[in-house]
Amino acid sequence: MKLSEAIMLGSLSVPQGSGNESLFSDNSRCALGAARLAMGLTGKGEVNAYRELTDLWPWIGNDEECPRCHREGTARAIIWHLNDVHSWPRERIASWVASIEPATPEPTEGRDPEQTHQELCVVEEKV
Ligand SMILES: [Zn+2]
Repeated sequence: MKLSEAIMLGSLSVPQGSGNESLFSDNSRCALGAARLAMGLTGKGEVNAYRELTDLWPWIGNDEECPRCHREGTARAIIWHLNDVHSWPRERIASWVASIEPATPEPTEGRDPEQTHQELCVVEEKV
Protein backbone atom coordinates (compact mmCIF):
# COMPACT_ATOMS: atom_id res chain seq x y z
CA MET A 1 0.00 0.00 0.00
CA LYS A 2 1.18 3.52 -0.72
CA LEU A 3 1.53 5.99 2.15
CA SER A 4 -1.14 8.27 0.65
CA GLU A 5 -3.56 5.32 0.61
CA ALA A 6 -2.71 4.37 4.19
CA ILE A 7 -3.35 7.94 5.37
CA MET A 8 -6.75 7.95 3.65
CA LEU A 9 -7.67 4.52 5.00
CA GLY A 10 -6.68 5.35 8.58
CA SER A 11 -8.50 8.68 8.38
CA LEU A 12 -11.79 6.82 7.99
CA SER A 13 -11.43 5.30 11.47
CA VAL A 14 -10.69 8.19 13.84
CA PRO A 15 -10.86 12.01 13.90
CA GLN A 16 -7.77 14.07 13.13
CA GLY A 17 -5.43 15.01 15.96
CA SER A 18 -2.08 16.69 16.45
CA GLY A 19 0.90 16.37 18.75
CA ASN A 20 3.03 13.33 19.49
CA GLU A 21 0.21 11.40 21.11
CA SER A 22 -1.73 11.43 17.83
CA LEU A 23 0.78 8.90 16.49
CA PHE A 24 -0.68 6.39 18.97
CA SER A 25 -3.99 7.62 20.40
CA ASP A 26 -7.20 5.61 20.08
CA ASN A 27 -9.19 8.85 19.94
CA SER A 28 -7.46 10.93 17.27
CA ARG A 29 -4.69 10.50 14.74
CA CYS A 30 -2.45 12.83 12.77
CA ALA A 31 -1.71 11.99 9.12
CA LEU A 32 1.20 9.69 9.99
CA GLY A 33 -0.75 8.25 12.93
CA ALA A 34 -3.60 7.41 10.54
CA ALA A 35 -1.14 5.60 8.27
CA ARG A 36 0.17 3.66 11.30
CA LEU A 37 -3.37 2.67 12.17
CA ALA A 38 -4.11 1.50 8.63
CA MET A 39 -0.94 -0.62 8.55
CA GLY A 40 -1.41 -2.07 12.05
CA LEU A 41 1.82 -0.56 13.38
CA THR A 42 1.93 -0.66 17.18
CA GLY A 43 5.52 0.27 18.15
CA LYS A 44 5.75 2.23 21.39
CA GLY A 45 7.42 5.62 21.54
CA GLU A 46 8.07 8.26 18.95
CA VAL A 47 11.40 6.79 17.76
CA ASN A 48 9.90 3.35 17.09
CA ALA A 49 6.84 4.92 15.48
CA TYR A 50 8.95 6.80 12.94
CA ARG A 51 11.25 3.82 12.40
CA GLU A 52 8.30 1.59 11.50
CA LEU A 53 7.04 4.17 9.01
CA THR A 54 10.49 4.55 7.44
CA ASP A 55 10.85 0.75 7.15
CA LEU A 56 7.65 0.66 5.08
CA TRP A 57 8.26 3.84 3.08
CA PRO A 58 12.02 4.59 2.98
CA TRP A 59 11.46 7.60 0.71
CA ILE A 60 9.91 9.60 3.59
CA GLY A 61 13.51 10.28 4.65
CA ASN A 62 14.06 12.21 1.40
CA ASP A 63 14.23 16.00 1.45
CA GLU A 64 11.06 17.81 0.42
CA GLU A 65 9.67 21.33 0.59
CA CYS A 66 6.51 22.42 2.36
CA PRO A 67 3.94 23.20 -0.37
CA ARG A 68 2.59 26.10 1.71
CA CYS A 69 5.52 27.93 3.33
CA HIS A 70 8.44 26.32 1.42
CA ARG A 71 10.21 25.26 4.60
CA GLU A 72 12.55 22.35 3.84
CA GLY A 73 12.81 19.05 5.67
CA THR A 74 12.38 15.32 5.25
CA ALA A 75 9.06 14.24 3.75
CA ARG A 76 8.28 12.73 7.16
CA ALA A 77 8.86 16.10 8.86
CA ILE A 78 6.84 18.00 6.24
CA ILE A 79 3.88 15.64 6.68
CA TRP A 80 3.99 16.27 10.42
CA HIS A 81 4.39 20.02 9.73
CA LEU A 82 1.35 20.17 7.39
CA ASN A 83 -0.74 18.35 10.00
CA ASP A 84 0.38 20.16 13.16
CA VAL A 85 1.44 23.60 11.92
CA HIS A 86 -0.79 24.31 8.90
CA SER A 87 -3.67 22.14 10.17
CA TRP A 88 -4.28 20.66 6.74
CA PRO A 89 -7.01 17.98 6.63
CA ARG A 90 -5.51 14.52 6.26
CA GLU A 91 -7.18 14.10 2.86
CA ARG A 92 -5.32 17.16 1.60
CA ILE A 93 -2.05 15.89 3.08
CA ALA A 94 -2.65 12.52 1.39
CA SER A 95 -3.11 14.31 -1.95
CA TRP A 96 0.21 16.08 -1.49
CA VAL A 97 1.87 12.80 -0.45
CA ALA A 98 0.50 11.17 -3.61
CA SER A 99 2.19 13.91 -5.65
CA ILE A 100 5.66 13.15 -4.19
CA GLU A 101 5.62 9.40 -3.42
CA PRO A 102 7.10 6.84 -5.81
CA ALA A 103 4.70 5.27 -8.30
CA THR A 104 5.58 1.82 -6.98
CA PRO A 105 5.36 0.93 -3.26
CA GLU A 106 9.12 0.30 -2.91
CA PRO A 107 11.44 2.86 -4.51
CA THR A 108 14.42 1.35 -6.31
CA GLU A 109 15.75 4.17 -8.44
CA GLY A 110 18.88 5.81 -7.11
CA ARG A 111 19.62 2.93 -4.73
CA ASP A 112 22.04 0.10 -5.25
CA PRO A 113 20.50 -3.40 -5.28
CA GLU A 114 22.22 -4.43 -2.06
CA GLN A 115 20.62 -1.63 -0.07
CA THR A 116 17.18 -2.35 -1.50
CA HIS A 117 17.60 -6.02 -0.61
CA GLN A 118 18.42 -5.17 3.00
CA GLU A 119 15.34 -3.01 3.33
CA LEU A 120 13.12 -5.74 1.93
CA CYS A 121 14.56 -8.19 4.47
CA VAL A 122 13.72 -5.82 7.31
CA VAL A 123 10.12 -5.64 6.12
CA GLU A 124 9.87 -9.42 5.82
CA GLU A 125 11.13 -9.96 9.37
CA LYS A 126 8.30 -7.87 10.70
CA VAL A 127 5.58 -9.90 8.99
ZN1 LIG B 1 4.87 24.94 5.91
